[in-house]
Amino acid sequence: MSLTCLVYAESKDGRLRRVALEALGAARLLAGDSGAVHAVIAGTDSAALAEAAAELAARGAVVVHVADDPSLHGSAPEAVQAAIAAAIDAVQPSAVLLGHTALGREVAPRVAAAIGAAHIADVTAIEHSGDGGDVVFVRPLYAGKAVERLRIVPGAPAVLSVRPNNLPPAKPLPPGIPQGSVAALAYRAPTLWTTVRSVVRKASGGVDLAEADVIVSGGRGVRSADGFAPLQALAALLGGAVGASRGACDAGYCDYALQIGQTGKVVTPQLYIACGISGAIQHLAGMSGSRVIVAINKDAEAPIFGVADYGIVGDLFEIVPLLTAEFRRSLG
Ligand code: FAD
Repeated sequence: MSLTCLVYAESKDGRLRRVALEALGAARLLAGDSGAVHAVIAGTDSAALAEAAAELAARGAVVVHVADDPSLHGSAPEAVQAAIAAAIDAVQPSAVLLGHTALGREVAPRVAAAIGAAHIADVTAIEHSGDGGDVVFVRPLYAGKAVERLRIVPGAPAVLSVRPNNLPPAKPLPPGIPQGSVAALAYRAPTLWTTVRSVVRKASGGVDLAEADVIVSGGRGVRSADGFAPLQALAALLGGAVGASRGACDAGYCDYALQIGQTGKVVTPQLYIACGISGAIQHLAGMSGSRVIVAINKDAEAPIFGVADYGIVGDLFEIVPLLTAEFRRSLG
């Protein structure tokens, strides 16, 4: 049975988010060689949409459906839902995939409810036995303390949101394989119950925490806002982002936009360096899925060492500059 998938490819600041390419990769895996993957993009910046469409077409979307309309300013959820609905009408997919981002979390259940589909949120892995074979979706539960493995009844429609940084992004098609086409979507602006007046960025520029490969995170042990400076230097050198525990946020050392954990962001970088963070269960809920965890803490009994792959017992104000100098030396 050939499967048709539709990917909502989210952009941020005019550029495709990496999770959009990860959702596309997952869709290609699900569709297999006999199926087809379509993508839908939505926004107000025609040049940015054209660039995004070209990238998606080069990475395996057979048709990229483009909604370009003023109502899509700020990715208002009702407008994005309407764009996805228009693409569903055009494509009649079996599965709709999107990123498990703030926007994805808001839009995916709406789309699933509207089309009477199953909804599997926060997928971190897909186990696939090959074309037409059994597919199992894996997602963490209870802040990562349990893992759920789900199967969709064959033929049932599904909406899947994939956690950023967990699935491989779709690779560009090999030379000689024809690239996909781009088509304007028959999109009609819905009644917008909310409109986006403005978006004010709180964390200062830099790499998006949710998609960062490296995160250097500080806790109450950094002692002040200035105490984050060595962490920022290390993160900048490694092309990563700075995160924080709630302890550091509550103490006013940094903005809550940086908080990682049960009530903050859930992150899964390749490398997570926890500095002066005790490792409370609520913090672990946001970062224990990281590929490699390094903990720096002056208390050898700190619980963070229980999840760390590498532990350094010592003063972060000595260790972090040493690490930075060592990385700078070895990176040339
Ligand atoms: P502390 O527990 O005070 O730890 C500071 C650590 O720094 C200590 O281990 C100390 O040994 C070490 N240290 C001190 N000085 C140095 C130094 N110079 N060098 C090296 N190490 C040093 N927390 C979160 O992080 N994220 C959440 O999303 C979150 N959600 C929560 C939700 C609820 C409902 C509740 C009740 C709590 C939540 N918390 C959350 C709070 C959580 O329980 C902890 O209080 C918090 O994570 C502690 O932050 P911390 O590790 O920075 O501080």
